[in-house]
Amino acid sequence: MTQEYKVVICGAGPAGASASLFLSKEKIPHLLIDKSTFPRDKVCGDALSGKVFSHLKHVLPDVRSECCQLPTVFLPSYGVRFVAPNGKELDVPFVPNITATDPPPGFISSRLDFDDWLFQKAAAAPFAEVWQNAKLIAIAKQNGGLVLQLKKDGEALEVKTQLAIAADGERSLLRKFHTGTATRDRSSFSAGVRQYYRGVEGFHDMNFIELHFLPELLPGYFWIFPMPNGRANVGAGMLSSVVANRKVDLKKEMEKIIQEHPIISKRFVNAKPEGKTQGWGLPLGRKVGSISGDNLLLCGDAASLIDPFTGEGIGNAILSGRYAAEAALKAISTQNFLAKNLNSYDQIIRKKVGAELRLSSTLLRLCEQQWLLNFVVNKATRNPEFRDTISSMFADIDLRAKFANPIFYFKILFGDRWRLRRNGF
Ligand SMILES: Cc1cc2nc3c(=O)[nH]c(=O)nc-3n(C[C@H](O)[C@H](O)[C@H](O)COP(=O)(O)OP(=O)(O)OC[C@H]3O[C@@H](n4cnc5c(N)ncnc54)[C@H](O)[C@@H]3O)c2cc1C
Repeated sequence: MTQEYKVVICGAGPAGASASLFLSKEKIPHLLIDKSTFPRDKVCGDALSGKVFSHLKHVLPDVRSECCQLPTVFLPSYGVRFVAPNGKELDVPFVPNITATDPPPGFISSRLDFDDWLFQKAAAAPFAEVWQNAKLIAIAKQNGGLVLQLKKDGEALEVKTQLAIAADGERSLLRKFHTGTATRDRSSFSAGVRQYYRGVEGFHDMNFIELHFLPELLPGYFWIFPMPNGRANVGAGMLSSVVANRKVDLKKEMEKIIQEHPIISKRFVNAKPEGKTQGWGLPLGRKVGSISGDNLLLCGDAASLIDPFTGEGIGNAILSGRYAAEAALKAISTQNFLAKNLNSYDQIIRKKVGAELRLSSTLLRLCEQQWLLNFVVNKATRNPEFRDTISSMFADIDLRAKFANPIFYFKILFGDRWRLRRNGF
């Protein structure tokens, strides 16, 4: 049996559900498929940055207030605690001088809950036809379009389309079809493990997420994120090339930290793990290649858009879903689904996130230097103005660029004479 749809979105995680919401906003009928049935889990740190909400508000105008009204699903978070290799802590609010009565800049929500919440919003829109338990198993070109072979509820079926939006994640079949390979460059890929806990103690009272830059994990980090309902998301991430070179067993490394680290282990004395430790890969946006082709647009992890420094990928998954829908609208209105026409999608994604991803790659390289991390945290704990600068950096890409500039470190080294000013240092 063959069915036809002008646009098919493959994968209904953050990238696919967002592409669907933005297509529905433009009144474009489409098919959204996922191999899973929602709610489904996804290995992740579960932290939702401000970027997530700045894009979703265009399709869900009350998104932030809705999240605030669902405290068992969304835990408001106001900042990040960096812990340097020497153990020194630096608390940085996401916005300078923010208080707990202000609207939260970010949230933490289990992917089981968040993805289902977003998926249900996409599925409720009248322009989306949604198939769960529908797995893409093969792709072929045919008559200026694509034929997608699916297994839906165990039955084989074919779907013809003029445009496939690949939102099928890290192991994307559509990406493999586009690039001709499933292998990833290990220096642009990170390994991550995650374990849920209940009863971890010692969190910041404004639910700061915690990044612990422990010497044994550099240039990666160990994280502890508070979650709704007294749970915690605990994990470790590291570049795959480093994992391979040093033959690191991330799960064991994480367990060792929890049991033996002199400070961290104390916070786990009354904690109980929930479920198993699980691992998954992070395709980092270090070298974003072509993300469009004839009848095809790649989004989210299928397009390798994860921030190399923070490991944050949900924001860019949603951003790319948004612009993929915009590119689909243009292709439909011009009736041109060829690579040349769809290439404007590559350009817009590069324009929106290219500089940010390049900068984060530089910051990742700097993180290999223990002394530098110790130095920055030491300085910032003593200098409130510098701390505010780091805060502002979350929202300001130009400010972040200064962190990749050696002159910046020279100036903070001589901070007494070279007063740090937010604009210009
Ligand atoms: C350990 C770890 C920690 C992370 N922590 C964070 C964090 O704290 N914050 C953050 O912002 N990002 C984090 N990330 C990154 C984030 O998880 C991803 O960037 C994000 O999930 C990408 O969304 P996506 O929609 O592109 O892909 P996914 O969320 O992977 O969704 C892909 C969807 O496609 C479906 N699918 C796959 N193959 C097929 C197929 N053949 N047919 C049909 N459907 C298919 C899947 O079922 C799934 O629903 C982390 C990642 C890892 C691994």
